[in-house]
This record gives sequence, C-alpha cells and structure tokens, in this order.
Amino acid sequence: MSITPIETRYAGHRFRSRLEARWAVFFDQLGIPWEYEPQGYLVDGAPYLPDFLLYANSDQAFWFEVKGQFPTDSELERAQGLATGSELPVYVYFAKPEMPAPDLSHITTMDQFHGPDQWTWVDEDGWQVISAGPASWEYNLKPTAFRLNPPFKGKTRPPKSGFWWWTDCPFCPAVLLKLRGQVGICPIRHQGEGWVDPGLYPRFAHNTARLQKAYWAARSARFEHGERG
Ligand SMILES: [Zn+2]
Repeated sequence: MSITPIETRYAGHRFRSRLEARWAVFFDQLGIPWEYEPQGYLVDGAPYLPDFLLYANSDQAFWFEVKGQFPTDSELERAQGLATGSELPVYVYFAKPEMPAPDLSHITTMDQFHGPDQWTWVDEDGWQVISAGPASWEYNLKPTAFRLNPPFKGKTRPPKSGFWWWTDCPFCPAVLLKLRGQVGICPIRHQGEGWVDPGLYPRFAHNTARLQKAYWAARSARFEHGERG
C-alpha cells in the first residue's frame, strides 16, 4: 500500500501538498513574491524540481524547499547541488509553518544575548573572555532549516541545521529569513552596511503581530480538494 499527498489548489497553482500551499499563504500574507516550481534542473544527472523561488526580501532571490520532516542526507546533497548550480542559497525548511520561538523582545543586551562568559586560555592571546553559551533563552529552541550556500572560493561548508526565523526588518517593511532573527543590515535600504553596531543586537522581531497573523493564516487556511480528492 502506498499513500501520496493530495494536490492542493491555491492562488491559481496546484501544489503537491497542503504544506506547500500553506507556505504560499504565509508568503502572500507578508507580501513576499514567490514562484512555485519555476524550473526543473538536472543535479548530478538526476532531475530536481525545487519548490519555491522567493524574491524581494533581499537583493538576492533564494530557493525555499518545504519539508514535512527532517531532511535526509541525500536531500541535503541535492539541495547543495542546486545552490552550487544556480548560485543561489537554498533553505531546506523542515519546521512547521508556526512561530519558531517565543517572544524574546525582553532580551536587549549583548550579555543576555550571548549568555555566560568565562575566562579561557588561548595560546596565542592568553586569557580571553569567551562565551560559555548557549544562553538560557536558546535551551529549548528547535532548529528550523538548513541553509545551503553556493561555494565560496570554491568551497562548500558541511550542512548544519540552524535557527532560521522569519523576522521583521528593523529598517524597512520587509520580512527576512535570518539566523536567530538577527538583522544587521537592511538588504533593501542598505542601512547599516559595512559595520555592525554592537548596540544593534539583539533586536528580536520574529514574534510580531504581523508574523503571528501570517503563521495563523497559513495554519488555518482551508483549501478546496484537488481534482481527485
Ligand atoms: Zn529592510
């Protein structure tokens, strides 16, 4: 016996799964332009049809792969092949379309953000204060996605899951996908470019009313049945 997801129609598209359609609802709520399955590729000789190409929240488009569970090694290899071949970053997002972390806006200092420091001997430099982390706010967080990057100086990094959160840009109305929701440079207005003001961090804006509404819309959306559903 085998089961397959029922196709889901939304916004003039036929999605392969409800989960993909929910992400499309999420992007629409936030005004994030998206394309669904715009182009298939041969990655190392095998056909690969990535889910979403997203625009406008940065200078650079990026791929957004929707997974219902933690990705396999071979899925990550293919995603890396896509990043390398297309020269665009690929997010393999495996968490549900729901708020990825509690409100952390009470964290306003670098000490709170980094967690406890401890003195550590470093051979070249002597005693150094190094974060003994993780900070207490990080303990119960779950990773949401892998980000696969195009090669840098011919090299790729091993895939590592991280806390990639949709977050409101502190400089403009855009919504960005950032590690731990931290935005240093506005990719649209370029404010903050070239420096990182220590006073800028931490600035959590992933649990705003706007994002709460978008996650809710995605999770609660009702769709008509697919043609055979
Ligand atoms: Zn911005």
